[in-house]
This record gives sequence, C-alpha cells and structure tokens, in this order.
Amino acid sequence: MSTLSIRTRLILAFSLMLALLVTVAAVALQRFDALSASMNHFVDHQARISFLAQRANQHAQHAAMYLLRLLQTPDREQRVPLYLAMDAALAKSDAAIGGLERAALVEGGDDDIRHLVAIRLQYGDSFQETVELIEIEGLVPARRHFDEKTDALLTSLLEETLTIDGHRRDLMQIQVEEIEARMQGARRLVWLITACAVVMSAALAMLIARGIARPVQRAVMVAESIASGDYDRPVAPGRGREIGALMRALDVMRNSIVSRERRILKLAYIDELTQLPNRTRFLEVMEQALHNGPFALFLMDIDRFGAINSALGHAVGDRLLTDIAQRLRSLVPARHFVARLGSDQFVILTDDSDRNAAGAFARSLLAGFRSPMTMDGQRLDVEARLGIVLFPTDGASISTLLRRADLAVALAKHRHQGIAFGSESAAEHPHEHLSLIGEMRDAIANNQFTTHFQPKMRLATHEIMGVEALLRWQHPDRGLVSPGAFIPFAEQTGFIREITPWLLRTVVKQASEWYRSGLELVTSVNLSTLDLINPALVTDVRQLLEETGLPARLLCLEITESALMDDPEAALRHLDDLAALGVKLSIDDYGSGQASLGYVQRLPVHELKIDRAFVSAVDQLPKNAAIVRSTILLCHELALSVVAEGAETPDEIAWLEENGCDIVQGYGIARPMPAAAFSDWLKARLTG
Ligand code: C2E
Ligand code: CA
Ligand code: CA
Repeated sequence: MSTLSIRTRLILAFSLMLALLVTVAAVALQRFDALSASMNHFVDHQARISFLAQRANQHAQHAAMYLLRLLQTPDREQRVPLYLAMDAALAKSDAAIGGLERAALVEGGDDDIRHLVAIRLQYGDSFQETVELIEIEGLVPARRHFDEKTDALLTSLLEETLTIDGHRRDLMQIQVEEIEARMQGARRLVWLITACAVVMSAALAMLIARGIARPVQRAVMVAESIASGDYDRPVAPGRGREIGALMRALDVMRNSIVSRERRILKLAYIDELTQLPNRTRFLEVMEQALHNGPFALFLMDIDRFGAINSALGHAVGDRLLTDIAQRLRSLVPARHFVARLGSDQFVILTDDSDRNAAGAFARSLLAGFRSPMTMDGQRLDVEARLGIVLFPTDGASISTLLRRADLAVALAKHRHQGIAFGSESAAEHPHEHLSLIGEMRDAIANNQFTTHFQPKMRLATHEIMGVEALLRWQHPDRGLVSPGAFIPFAEQTGFIREITPWLLRTVVKQASEWYRSGLELVTSVNLSTLDLINPALVTDVRQLLEETGLPARLLCLEITESALMDDPEAALRHLDDLAALGVKLSIDDYGSGQASLGYVQRLPVHELKIDRAFVSAVDQLPKNAAIVRSTILLCHELALSVVAEGAETPDEIAWLEENGCDIVQGYGIARPMPAAAFSDWLKARLTG
C-alpha cells in the first residue's frame, strides 16, 4: 500500500467509499421497491376481490328487487320488461362472481368464493323456481316460495359477500403487518450496511492518514535535524512517489546546505590572500586553547613590509605575503596552528609553554626566513620579528596575551633582535598597559616627564663637548620609569607623536640656556620612526631654533637605522631638510641592525654611535675590538665622528682613546642626570 503514490491512494480510498455508499443506496432502493411492488400488487388484488364481491351482491339484490316487483305484477304483459331487467342484473352478478372465481383461481382457490359460487348456484336455482311458480301456479305460491327459500338464499349470498369482504380486509391487515415487518428487516439491513461502510471508511481513512502522516513526520524530523546542524544523519529514501520526491529534495537541500556552509565557513575563517586561517578563526582557536591548558603564542611581524609594499607595489606585497605564509606553513609542524592576523602579522600557536623550547622554536623559524625570497627574479631579504607570550604565565585573556605579544614584537624591534618575550616587555605591570596611554597623557599635562642628561666627552681633549637628553618618567605610583618600559609602547601606539614635540621644546630650551650661559655643548635628542616621517618635524625644529636662538650646530638628532627603513623616502627628505638647517644628525645604536657603512655614507649624517653591545669589554673581547676598530677607521674615511656608547670602565675608555675613537659616552664618564645636576657636575669638573 505504502508503495502507491498518495494520489493513487486517495483516489482508491474515495472510490471505495463511494462504492460502499452506492451499494448502501442501491440495496435500500431495491428492498423498498420490491416491498412496495408486492404491496401494490396485493392491495390491487384484494381490492378487486372486494369490489367484485360487492358487485355480485349488488346485482343479486337488483335481481331480487325485480323479482319482488314481478311478484306484485299480475299482468303478464307488464312482467315481460321486468324479466329482461332481472336477467340483465343476474348476468351482471354472474359476471362479477365469475371474476371472483378467476381471482380465487389465481390465488390457488378460496373456500369463501367457492362457497359464494355454490350459494349463487342455489340462489339461481331457487330464483328460477320462483319465476316458474309465477308463470305456472300464480303469484301467491311463488311469493311463498320466494319468502321461504329464495329470500333466505339471497340473504346468505349477501352475508357471504360481506364475509368475503371482511376476510379480504383481514388478509390485507395481516399482509400490511407482514410487509411492515419486512420493511423493518430491510431498514435494519440498510443500517447494518451503512454502519459497515462507516467503519470501513474510518479504517481506510486512518490507514491512509497514517500512510501519509508517518513519512511526512519522518521528513519533518529530517528537516529538523538538518536545521539543528546535524548533516551526517542519512536521509532514508521515502517510499511512494511523492514522499520519495520529498526525501530526495531534503537530501539535495542538506547537501547544498553542507556545501554552502563550508563555503561560508571558508569565507569567514580563511584569509583570502594566503589561504591561512584568519583573525576570526584565530580568536576561536585561542578561546579553545585557553580551556585546554598551557600554550605558547608567537606573533610574527615582517620588518619593513610597509616600505616594500609602497616601493614595489601592492601586487608584489601580496605575493610576498603569500610566499611568507607558505614558508611559514612549511616551517611549522602541521600539529601547530598558523594564522594570518592582518596585514603583515602572523601567529603561531604551539602546545609547549616552556620558555626555552619556545625560544628555540622561534629561532628556528627566524633561521627558516633567513634564506631570501625571490620576486620576479629579484632577491628580497625578509626579516621577521617574533613576540612570544606564554599561557598562562603571561596573561589569562586573549586580549592581554595579544597585547603583550604586540609589545614583545615592539620590544624586539626596538632592541633590533629577532625575538622578545612578552614577560620582558610588559615589565612588572602588564595589566596597566591599557591605561598607559591615559597615564602618559596625564604625564605630559602634570609634568611627570623629565629629561636627564648624559655627558659626551671628546677623547682627544677630555673636554665635555655634548650631552644626550634621555627621557624619564617620574610616575606618581611607580617611581622613576625607564624609557625602555614605555617608549616602545608609545612608539607602537603613536603616542610618541605627542611626547617628541614636548621633549624637543624642553630640551632645546635647556640647551639654549646653557648656550646663553656660555657653554658650547651639542645637545642630542633621540627621534623615533614616527617622528622622522612626521611632516611637521622640520618646521617644528626650525621654529624652536628661531624661538630660542639656539644655533643649529648645537642641536643633534639621533636616529636609528630602523627609523629610516619604514618610509625611506620621507625619512631621507626630512633628514636632508634638517641637515640643510644646520642641525647635526647621528646614527644611533650602530651595529645592532644591518645597516652597512655604505648605506650610512649616503645619508646626510655627521656622527655614528657604536652600540653599547660592541663597546662593552672592547678591551678584552677581540671580536668587539675588531668591529669597533674597523668602524672607527671606516668612519674617519667617511669624515664621520665616532661615538662609543656605554663605556663603563677606565680600561674601555683608555682602549677607545688609543684606537682613535672621537667621543665617548657612558657610566664611565657619568650617568644620565637632571639638568641642574649636570650643570653642577660640569662646573665641578671644570674647576676640579
Ligand atoms: P639610547 O639612545 O641608546 O640611549 C642610551 C641608553 O644607554 C640610555 O638608557 C642610557 O642610560 C644607557 N647608558 C648610557 N651609558 C651606559 C653605560 O655605560 N652602561 C649601560 N648599561 N647603559 C648606559 P635609557 O635612558 O634607559 O634609554 C634607553 C633608550 O630609550 C635609549 O637608548 C633610547 O633609544 C630610548 N630613549 C631614551 N630617551 C628617549 C627620548 O627622549 N626619545 C626617544 N624617542 N627615545 C628615547
Ligand atoms: Ca640615543
Ligand atoms: Ca644608543
């Protein structure tokens, strides 16, 4: 049954019900027709018998009436028409009785009628005798015969017809009762068939309803499971044409939802360019990772990507990012998660939160990036920096971990190192970084920033020829905060743009005071990347010099090579303009990056500061000594004066002096100190 289509099933069921209905109606009609026919027939028959009996009676009476008149008519001539009328009445009566006899024969004979016929015969005989007596013996004996015999026979004839009529009526009564009983039976039969039809129809309806409702319910369940995202439950092929089609449609729907969902997921979770998981996916994985225990997060930032992008075009930039993603994927074991966070930032998640292991892994990644990439046959050195944060040591939330990873990258940049840990950058108050911008803003307004000054000594004459201004933050709660703890953050957040103008103004003012008091000191100020590409920098400096009257030659701006890399064009333009003003320019932290002297030579700079790392123990470490010595020689070739940073011991200073270094700066001479302390220190030194 259930293999039939719903349409066929419905048609069949309704046809069956209709057939039942027609049967019931037909049976009922046929029954009632038969009953009414037999009833009509019977009634007709009985009515005819009654009629004939009455007619026979009536005409017999007529005949008797003529006979009586004959008996009173003595004139023979006058009796002739009466005989004629009497004979006619008798003939009519006989015809009626003949009819009765035939009707009785149809019924198979009737005692009443036979009796009636017999009486009629006797009556006829007696009648005839009376007539004969009239003609032969006269009216009186005829009258006597009539009174004695014929009249009695007439009476019994009349009675007999009445009896027949009465009997017929009784018969009719019985017959009507019988027919009523049969009607009752017929009615019962019709009711029975109707009840059967109703029960059968109900059963059929239920069967069909179930046959339709069940598969529909199954289809609903399938649809619900699809709606709840359960795509693995197979869709059972429905039986029957329509349900089969419905189930197939559901299956098609499920498959297209699955593929569409995959596509949407891909769009939502995969970075279009590199095909790596994107930031959204990364955040989800992080959420999961926070529940699954310790892990290490590596935030990788590509150095100078902005410069490459603007110099070589976005198409090359895009391809470079794709290549970097590919290389990253090949360097990181498949079990670790790699994603692109945005522009030139990538992240790697590993399940090992050991600091040493994380460091080793990061170094192996950097080593993997050391071999250059080729773009259109052109070699591109890609340098990456990694900020490493460990969960749960470095933070418990995604935002904290990411912020610290960002800071670690900034710190690595600042230190010109490949890697830095979040624990180093965040110092002791990691959670306070968020409020740091607000605090720094307050710091400017509330004069919490100050500058310390560290002297620079010309080795040839041992005179103090200059000072370097170094920023200090006198924090109300934390005390003196060293620039290493907030400068990277200020650079990263762009807040340095607010610090530097303040700093320049303060320092130039101080320098002009010293100048007016007769000191010929070159005062150095450190600039950040953002300062160097700031279009207002040159005008600000020019204005400050004009305002304070400080000769340009007494101001020196220190820049790091990395500051030149981000937007070399703008940086170079500004350097040229500053040099044109007469301001001195100095390359800071030389040796920590990869700038070559060949590159420095092309810049309008006057001074080069060898990084502390090479100066430290220069008198003991041959390698440092070789680097410093060759740098000094080359600088002199290029007419640059050389400053050795971070000289701490008299031996280091002596070595530098012996090897022709121009200027020295370091704790060996003096630590950075407030302006007043420096003035005192200088006075004491001059007088002492
Ligand atoms: P830098 O420009 O290389 O400054 C020299 C750093 O070396 C200073 O640290 C100074 O105190 C330290 N130093 C000097 N002599 C010695 C020594 O003999 N031994 C040792 N161990 N250290 C010595 P400081 O003041 O903590 O500054 C750190 C860095 O912060 C600076 O490095 C500079 O890059 C940045 N910075 C400081 N002040 C400013 C500023 O006003 N503006 C900007 N943009 N950056 C600044
Ligand atoms: Ca410096
Ligand atoms: Ca330096």
